[in-house]
Amino acid sequence: MDDGKPVWAPHPTDGFQLGMIVDIGAETLTIEPLNQKGKTFLAPMSQVFPAEDDVSKHVEDNCSLMYLNEATLLNNVRVRYNKDHIYTYVANILIAVNPYCDIPKLYAPETLKSYRGKSLGTLPPHVYAIADKAYRDMKVLKMSQSIIVSGESGAGKTENTKFVLRYLTTTYGTGQDIDERIVEANPLLEAFGNAKTVRNNNSSRFGKFVEIHFNEKNAVVGGFVSHYLLEKSRICMQSKEERNYHIFYRLCAGASEDIKKTLHLDSPDSFRYLNQGCTRYFANKDSDKQIMQNRKSPEHLKAGALKDPLLDDQGDFNRMCVAMKKIGLDDTEKLDLFRVVAGVLHLGNIDFEETGSSSGGCTLKNQSSQTLAYCANLLGLDQDDLQVSLTTRVMLTTAGGAKGTVIKVPLKVEQANNARDALAKAVYSRLFDHVVKRVNQCFPFETSSNFIGVLDIAGFEYFEHNSFEQFCINYCNEKLQQFFNERILKEEQELYQKEGLGVNEVHYVDNQDCIDLVEAKVVGILDILDEENRLPQTSDQHFALAVHSKHKDHFRLTVPRKSKLAIHRNIRDDEGFIIRHFAGAVCYETAQFVEKNNDALHMSLESLVCESKDKFVRELFENSNTTKDSKQKAGKLSFISVGNKFKTQLNLLLEKLRSTGSSFIRCVKPNLKMVSHQFEGAQILSQLQCSGMVSVLDLMQGGFPSRALFHELYNMYKKYMPDKLTRLDPRLFCKALFKALGLNDNEYKFGLTRVFFRPGKFAEFDQIMKSDP
Ligand code: ADP
Ligand code: MG
Repeated sequence: MDDGKPVWAPHPTDGFQLGMIVDIGAETLTIEPLNQKGKTFLAPMSQVFPAEDDVSKHVEDNCSLMYLNEATLLNNVRVRYNKDHIYTYVANILIAVNPYCDIPKLYAPETLKSYRGKSLGTLPPHVYAIADKAYRDMKVLKMSQSIIVSGESGAGKTENTKFVLRYLTTTYGTGQDIDERIVEANPLLEAFGNAKTVRNNNSSRFGKFVEIHFNEKNAVVGGFVSHYLLEKSRICMQSKEERNYHIFYRLCAGASEDIKKTLHLDSPDSFRYLNQGCTRYFANKDSDKQIMQNRKSPEHLKAGALKDPLLDDQGDFNRMCVAMKKIGLDDTEKLDLFRVVAGVLHLGNIDFEETGSSSGGCTLKNQSSQTLAYCANLLGLDQDDLQVSLTTRVMLTTAGGAKGTVIKVPLKVEQANNARDALAKAVYSRLFDHVVKRVNQCFPFETSSNFIGVLDIAGFEYFEHNSFEQFCINYCNEKLQQFFNERILKEEQELYQKEGLGVNEVHYVDNQDCIDLVEAKVVGILDILDEENRLPQTSDQHFALAVHSKHKDHFRLTVPRKSKLAIHRNIRDDEGFIIRHFAGAVCYETAQFVEKNNDALHMSLESLVCESKDKFVRELFENSNTTKDSKQKAGKLSFISVGNKFKTQLNLLLEKLRSTGSSFIRCVKPNLKMVSHQFEGAQILSQLQCSGMVSVLDLMQGGFPSRALFHELYNMYKKYMPDKLTRLDPRLFCKALFKALGLNDNEYKFGLTRVFFRPGKFAEFDQIMKSDP
């Protein structure tokens, strides 16, 4: 790197900048930026990388670059993005940058058609090419396939997932209902499981694995959706500028007058579960006015009314109803769903106040009795029972040996609020389970030979404050990363074999220790948490201390005090822990871990909904673990572990993934503003690191990462060669060339179709070629 050639050195916002090395220290390099002559800076040696000769050149497969490192990867992705080439390969992995705009023809029907049956690499990189590869692999290898789509919120996972589903059903469907249903199930799932967040106006708040099943003739026969970890906190509370699930607003905005009357619906402003976070419409704000005018919305909005100018709730409601119809939901079923949604909204409006009596309980606020009636009515509950269940708790006395006497303990206002919110979360999440189940009934299949599954699940997350949700999703990403490494490693080795290289040398670092830290029996963090949940007196602090004491010298775990970041150093040992993930260290704050880990409703609420007069509501709770022996269990604090349920689901998923062939799509969000044509290099670099792309490059460094087809080398170098050589066919040409140059054959290998180079050796070869007379 020191012979006067440009290098990539760190840059705070662009990720990397071009510069020259002007001095070499023990661990640092002095760099002079190319565009700021004379202004030098120091950079750690490990963060400076060799640059390609021509940094404006881009390649479809990153592996055909001469230097494979995070800087050249970032530059290649940047140059391509600037030309609206949002897709790039790294070997068989697809990187997809969210364009935040429609790129002409990118998904046009003729483009879609053109990818049919084409090998990866014959046409420009595309999500369709990955879908077609999965299909062809399934057909040829007679083996199910999976496509794993990952990336941070707003990176384009869900959109790319939909492109895959549409591609497969359009190209390999039978032209029957089923094809359309697989695509049309999405609007329904999104209505109930997506919400506007600060990161994405249509953010999926659950993970999903969608399988398309094929018959022995490899035509689509049906589908199946599995879902993971719906975010429950959002049902009762949203952060500033965020919204609850779309369905709530859509129902308020779009339902017919009749339905609104039956469900006692009003504007979203009147519901506690909708009016806290939220974005508001300001008729006096020009940009808002413009948007509403363009939409020719019939709604006449008050200034400050609860209406997101970017979202068209009314139009979306209508589109959702069309989709519901297409997948075969009738009006009764539709109304069942709407009734429960409205029931949850009214439940949220129930307010409590202290009774002032010596027993210290609480009662409904005056205005709430109407709301209580609405809610009870919509959910098929007895009004008085509902009130009692929300304001008291059934307990078993153990005092004086009179074990087993049931008593009702009055609740404080805060406890009653919690009971109300717990009920709302339980009802809504059961409703979501039902929606997924119902969706699955609309593309049933009797027999299937193989499937192609698409996994759309949140990538690695680290925020300023990280809680149980981040802990679960990052645990999931550790597992997926391990799978990714296994597969990439295997693919590399298979490629070497296929090309007849006779080598098997790829080494990489495994993350099993991190996975064990979370999921190992007894000593894993999930089990420590469950143990806390089972104690008579639970405490988040006790849990945090237990984690530290069980893993004192664990390489992956440490106390927040030792964080590199100042904001974490104030967190006490009993308030959190830091895990060193493959993608970086994350500090988890353990407040609410215990509560969030428990899926069980308190007994009195559980039996209330299980005995609902409304058949639909009763069915929502039919398979709950606690219904059967509810009488015996009355009073006991029931516990259903969220963490361990997720662990079981995840292990099943991984088992499934391991039994399929796999492809990977890494989605990248180009900027935080969610706008087109803006490439924030540093942000993107960090995403490439988190998605494991940089570690893939490292993994490849253990083998022969750069590769070039014989005919590519031929075209690149024929002008430097005597005529006699250029008459040879490309393969012989390359052989002769390498022999003549006397290259060390540890540094490259000849495959059947291409030459493979050890790290950096392609560039060395290039230099010899261009300097030799
Ligand atoms: P994620 O699921 O990763 O959170 P989404 O798939 O919901 O992200 O994408 C967020 C938004 O970005 C979409 O609503 C859409 O507006 C835009 N978007 C994503 N991918 C594309 C694409 N390929 N072309 C155009 N717009 C896109
Ligand atoms: Mg999504």
